[in-house]
Amino acid sequence: MELTVDASHLGTPESTWSSSGRIEALGPLELGRPRRVVVVAAHPDDEVLGAGGLIERVLDLGSIVEVIAVTDGEASHPYSAVTETMDLRSVRASESRIALRRLGWESPQVTRLCIPDGKVAEHLPYLSCVLAACLGPGDLCVAPWLRDGHADHDACGSAAVKVSDEVGASLLAFLVWAWHWADPEGADVPWARCRRLDLTRHQVARKRWATSAFESQIRPLGSAPEDAPVLPAPLLRRFWRDYEVYVDDRSGP
Ligand SMILES: [Zn+2]
Repeated sequence: MELTVDASHLGTPESTWSSSGRIEALGPLELGRPRRVVVVAAHPDDEVLGAGGLIERVLDLGSIVEVIAVTDGEASHPYSAVTETMDLRSVRASESRIALRRLGWESPQVTRLCIPDGKVAEHLPYLSCVLAACLGPGDLCVAPWLRDGHADHDACGSAAVKVSDEVGASLLAFLVWAWHWADPEGADVPWARCRRLDLTRHQVARKRWATSAFESQIRPLGSAPEDAPVLPAPLLRRFWRDYEVYVDDRSGP
């Protein structure tokens, strides 16, 4: 699937999601009290956009939390001349750490794999090997949904499904780009297996504050069209909701 995001391609409007009744109909996510949680981020922002509220929750529960940063997101502006003169990899890694701290995580545990942005599918054996080393029986893996619609997200999701099953970890899959292309009334998203994690006002506020750390993604890098934000405001606001949605493979077929 080719994702198009710009000022004239803002995807499924938030009003369409909120008026559909689809989200309200979802059952609550039973999170329990996981001992250890491994969050897989295809790019340095997915962990907060997709699962920031869950990270806040499990930190409060006392879980051990680790983020696997699969790529450094260096290809977010592929045609920009500005990025040729900046170390976007370091910038994005730094933004992620700031964002995770803003969620209330004093010392974020982040492992950077430095797989090339856009090429995760070519490095699945390595990614699977790392996940297999990180995950154990009873751990909770939180990863992009394997049909989220961005090749790197889908590859991370596939690896997470495979390894979680192999090692006996449980898996929750979050949506990032599906909110852009999916239709609430359509059957592309497995709604029967989706669960809703409601967030408190405080959690929403911290998550919103955290998303503002991704300056390289939410503000123009320069004046050229190639420097436009990857996450313009209408898209960013999707991640300020008072809930998160997870495909919960623990909930049966
Ligand atoms: Zn991403």
